[in-house]
Amino acid sequence: MRYSLIADGYEKIEATAKRLKMTDLLVKLLKQTPKDLIDKVVYLTQGKLYPDFVGIEIGIAEKLAIRAVAKATGYSEKEIEENVKKTGDLGETTEKFLEKKTQRTFFQEQLTVHMVYANLDKMAKAEGPGSIELKISLLAGLLANATPKEGKYVIRTITGSLRLGIADMTVLDALAVAFGGGKDARKYLERAYNISSDLGRVAKTVLEQGLETVKKFEVSLGEPIRPMQAERLSSPIEILEKLGGKCIAEFKYDGERIQAHKKGDQVTLFSRRLENITDQYPDSCELLKNHVRAENAIVEAECVAVDPDTGEMRPFQELMHRRRKYGIKEAMEEYPISLFMFDALYIDGKDLTLEPYPIRRRNLEKIIEQSDHIKVADYIVTDNLDELERFFEKAVESGCEGLVCKSVAKDAVYQAGARGWLWIKYKRDYKSEMTDTVDLVVVGAFHGRGKRAGTYGALLLAAYNPKIDMFETVTKCGTGFTDEDLKKLPKMMKKHQIPHRHPRVNSTLKADIWFEPKVVIETLGAEITLSPIHVCAMNAIRKGSGLAIRFPRFTGNYRLDKSAEDTTSVKEIIEMYKNRLKKVAG
Ligand code: ATP
Repeated sequence: MRYSLIADGYEKIEATAKRLKMTDLLVKLLKQTPKDLIDKVVYLTQGKLYPDFVGIEIGIAEKLAIRAVAKATGYSEKEIEENVKKTGDLGETTEKFLEKKTQRTFFQEQLTVHMVYANLDKMAKAEGPGSIELKISLLAGLLANATPKEGKYVIRTITGSLRLGIADMTVLDALAVAFGGGKDARKYLERAYNISSDLGRVAKTVLEQGLETVKKFEVSLGEPIRPMQAERLSSPIEILEKLGGKCIAEFKYDGERIQAHKKGDQVTLFSRRLENITDQYPDSCELLKNHVRAENAIVEAECVAVDPDTGEMRPFQELMHRRRKYGIKEAMEEYPISLFMFDALYIDGKDLTLEPYPIRRRNLEKIIEQSDHIKVADYIVTDNLDELERFFEKAVESGCEGLVCKSVAKDAVYQAGARGWLWIKYKRDYKSEMTDTVDLVVVGAFHGRGKRAGTYGALLLAAYNPKIDMFETVTKCGTGFTDEDLKKLPKMMKKHQIPHRHPRVNSTLKADIWFEPKVVIETLGAEITLSPIHVCAMNAIRKGSGLAIRFPRFTGNYRLDKSAEDTTSVKEIIEMYKNRLKKVAG
């Protein structure tokens, strides 16, 4: 197949403003394509060489491309650069310089799609010393044989500026018409794409084996399934109504979505955008290898940063430390993670994507051997508004964003690649950011584990309510303590230890150790939220709920100058909550 067919097709597609016309032109181009090249032509029209999840990217910096154009045309880099300043498009500039150059050329080999693809592929894979020169000479080789128009599109492809605007859905429409017998075939092609994320493979299958084979497409280990997404509503009443009066409500963990493909001992991780992120999370791979009791499986999880000392969830931003090539081992130690599993899409030969969610969840529970760092998402099944609201508060307080409420209907399949009403997210509309520190009294403690064995994992802290002369718990704080603090604390607190909750302490949480309210420490939290667990300001904002401080951190200040009764009062916490209440977008 001559590359000029592609270049002509692109030129016409670029010239049209009508979507239908664009699809027709694409149909024409696909029909001119031989079977063995169809996948490559599909990738090329989208400016790619492979599906995204393979991770091999086309692309070369403009500066290097200019060097190749110079080499192929005999003009200087400076002349080419000057011209790009005028045209604003290296593609167009290349076309111009190739036009001038052709007058001086005696022999040209005709450019074929095969040659273009093979050279671009070699360029994409070139690595190490000498790779820059290799890339330039491969590109210059193509340009030397290209017509001006072909050169323009080769350059645009390689610099990522093809701008044809051919979306996945347009390709699917075109494939349906070209090889599927008409528009009705589109839904089968779309499903095949959604469960394989590989348009080239879908195109090849329909052209070589027909639509019936496409209809039988199944999920396949190693090919990421395009993720199902959630719609959003802002109240339990709307959510339950939409989901037929009942749902599975799960914590919406605030981390990074991971789709894990386990094949024996081999685990591959894909991000929400289907990039291969296996190298960022060796710890997740290890967990999945050891705790998924199936030979082969595709499961989904939220990967959440946790406090290395307390195991509590940390804000999403801490995962950013994993986005690097080197130093992953250190990042793993400093910013450990936990996995919260929320779907099973394939287990040992069985495609579960068309099973309803309750069945998928049951299968997931069966194969996950839970431990400290790998759990199935916390959930309730409920038809009760109040219970849903309470569970939402519990989720937020535990460090989650809110809930994902899932349909329990028979047709609640995994809608790959779609945002639908089978999953509805319920996030906080309001949050109250904290800017001031608060002084809180230590009323209890929880045993530490791991590095903190023998000392405290977290302290239970309370605010003072002078009206009833009680200390009301408002948070559990395990962050911000130095090794020295941790050594010192048990000694310091020993003299205040008592065998049961102090009668002036109000708490629904059961601490491992209780203290007489004496020692005051300064903490800074991220925000104040409604809480079904902490009793501070119970019923003041909403019936049945108290207030809690999220993500508290010890500032290092022991307020030895303060008595327990001098701590921040419940009234002050209510004021802080109200004053800082902000409507947040999203
Ligand atoms: P957001 O920014 O609200 O996370 P989003 O557009 O990234 O939205 P949505 O599909 O709207 O994603 O919301 C679902 C996301 O929530 C999933 O992509 C997943 O990463 C995350 N999540 C956390 N816990 C769960 C859970 N239990 N079930 C499903 N998704 C969950």
